[in-house]
Amino acid sequence: MSSNNVLSAAKEAQNAAMLQGDGSFYEELLDGLDDGIYFVDPQRRITFWSQGAERITGYKAVDVVGSCCSDNILMHVDDKGKCLCKSGCPLAATMKDGEHRSADLFLHHKDGHRVPITVRASAVHDRTGRIIGGVETFHDGSSQQADLQRIRELEQMAFLDSLTGIANRRYLDNSLGSRFAGVDRALGGFGLIMLDVDRFKKFNDTYGHETGDEVLQMVARTLSHNCRPFDTVGRWGGEEFLIVVGRAKGEDIQALAETLRALVEKSSLTVDGQPLSVTASFGATMVRPGDDAHSLTARADESLYQSKESGRNRVTFQE
Ligand code: GH3
Ligand code: MG
Ligand code: MG
Repeated sequence: MSSNNVLSAAKEAQNAAMLQGDGSFYEELLDGLDDGIYFVDPQRRITFWSQGAERITGYKAVDVVGSCCSDNILMHVDDKGKCLCKSGCPLAATMKDGEHRSADLFLHHKDGHRVPITVRASAVHDRTGRIIGGVETFHDGSSQQADLQRIRELEQMAFLDSLTGIANRRYLDNSLGSRFAGVDRALGGFGLIMLDVDRFKKFNDTYGHETGDEVLQMVARTLSHNCRPFDTVGRWGGEEFLIVVGRAKGEDIQALAETLRALVEKSSLTVDGQPLSVTASFGATMVRPGDDAHSLTARADESLYQSKESGRNRVTFQE
């Protein structure tokens, strides 16, 4: 089978599975999207209703799967209030002629209010080109939703380090504050790993600032890929990084710091065919009774300084 045939067979299997409401892999993918998505069979009975559709409409999949979209569940209207379900439904028209359509409409939310949406309707074809169903995707066009989305994006920008894409110092400060608020102490303590790239000034002088930036990005990726979900990895400033290690004992933090040290040393960037790498010095410590964010970070910094003093590319740990 040619790769085109494999692709179209896979697509057809996917379409058939979705139309039968049986395609858990694809369902998972579609459920991950913010947009609402639903599939209908040739009789316009709903066979799949995504989690995005549940969020936007208030109707759960169990409320609607098996019903006809022309049963007036969503009761799409246009901006004049004209009901489109019996005539003027973009999905019905698309299932007749196979043309993609898009329209700005208003759906009926389960709680009664109207929600502005932009819908896109497409036909689902079998291998011979016969239309065997339809799919409609729609997104919530409420300005409130757009505002919330913008706020989320701004929040993200405020907490992200623009060079490396990991948490910035402000986020680390917040994260430390909430760890001290108590939760992690109850779960068995937490600690810090602080690291600073060795002789980075010389690296920049030799290879240029831009290559230096790429190395910092590489180090950030090595750190963030090799910590656990409940650890927070961020850029403390310049060529220094800080990891707030959650739910850990001293020996775990020490072991993690040793692993990260070795992984940073073994990470390399290829520039003009030449592998470039750096090392870093690490300071690690556990939270102690009476600590606050300042005393804890000061101890991590002091341990890091000891690593620098005793030769660099090493870990100093204080219980
Ligand atoms: P040490 O082993 O003692 O840490 O030596 P060092 O050269 O790494 O330390 P120093 O504090 O003398 O120099 C830090 C260097 O890190 C100088 C600065 O230009 C560089 N640096 C800080 N932030 C960035 C950055 O965002 N990009 C690049 N490329 N370099 C940076
Ligand atoms: Mg430094
Ligand atoms: Mg340095």
